[in-house]
Amino acid sequence: SIVATGITKRFGSFVALEDVDLDVRSGGLTALLGPSGGGKSTLLRIIGGLEDADVGSVRINGVDSTRIPAQRRNVGFVFQHYAAFKHMSVYRNVAFGLEIRKRPKAEIRARVDELLDLVHLAQFADRMPAQLSGGQRQRMALARALAVEPSVLLLDEPFGALDATVRKELRDWLRRLHDQVRVTTVFVTHDQQEALEVADEIVVINAGRIEQAGQPDELYDKPASDFVMRFLGPVT
Ligand code: ATP
Ligand code: MG
Repeated sequence: SIVATGITKRFGSFVALEDVDLDVRSGGLTALLGPSGGGKSTLLRIIGGLEDADVGSVRINGVDSTRIPAQRRNVGFVFQHYAAFKHMSVYRNVAFGLEIRKRPKAEIRARVDELLDLVHLAQFADRMPAQLSGGQRQRMALARALAVEPSVLLLDEPFGALDATVRKELRDWLRRLHDQVRVTTVFVTHDQQEALEVADEIVVINAGRIEQAGQPDELYDKPASDFVMRFLGPVT
């Protein structure tokens, strides 16, 4: 589980997050939904330890992680613009995190094969990242993030740079992947349709404050504010 409590973050005098709470149950897939500049990435970075909050705490699987540095939080990140080693094959990119942890070769082989199957990239193992489509690259990035068995997965608009058709495919695929892997996941998006279809919980954040949190149908049927109603309402 991820429990962030009373998170406040300022940049100079600008308040990016104010007294924000977030609670993601173990194995859940929560969408952090809101307009540009609302504080989604900042909150995700604080959960992952890439940024410190001014006030508040973060617990990951029951452990107070507020002062634990990012590399020891065992968090998998995927960002909008994929990060890959351009000179390494798809296979090596996925294997890298296991290689630096000095896992046995046979174990790495088995794990990477399993992951490439899971993200439907088995036949592309020997390609270089530049030879993949955008959607394939993001699937590689997910395999890379999952390789080291993270306790939580943090996705910041992972499909944001892709065209609508591919986004739609990937959101269906992510849903299925999550049903198989069941790792506690926070999925940042500004796309209400994406949040409604992918997540089992939605947290709406605007101007640094949580507007509402709940299950997709709850938010859709009983929006707590005009903002949520407009933001989740039918796209006109
Ligand atoms: P988007 O959908 O555009 O990615 P977001 O919801 O992820 O937006 P954040 O990136 O979290 O928004 O930014 C929240 C606010 O904090 C914005 O107004 C942004 O300009 C500000 N901000 C973020 N990082 C910094 C920083 N390092 N220094 C100053 N201001 C920052
Ligand atoms: Mg952002």
